[in-house]
Amino acid sequence: MKIPNKIQCSCFEYSIEEHSRSEMGDSMGDLNRETKVIRITKDLEQQVKKETLLHELLHVTLDDYSIEDDLEEKIVRLLSPRIMELFKRNPKLLEVLFGKEEI
Ligand SMILES: [Zn+2]
Repeated sequence: MKIPNKIQCSCFEYSIEEHSRSEMGDSMGDLNRETKVIRITKDLEQQVKKETLLHELLHVTLDDYSIEDDLEEKIVRLLSPRIMELFKRNPKLLEVLFGKEEI
């Protein structure tokens, strides 16, 4: 599955770009809040790439809350692996939460 080039969050549209390791330096991913661009390192191992994408998307979702940067990073680092694990262990959960059937 390919990473989408755009994602909508609150009233903003964010672009998602994949860049080479030489362009990204030590970072696996980053978010530019001014230009609304998420950059992900292109050749990461798949699971790391997916978790990096979720990590940056969590930053996007917290963007409106003016959380101090270090605290936001801690929250995102705490949540992203746990959310990945939750959906990995419960693959039908997305359908339960967002599907049309009543629960
Ligand atoms: Zn981060």
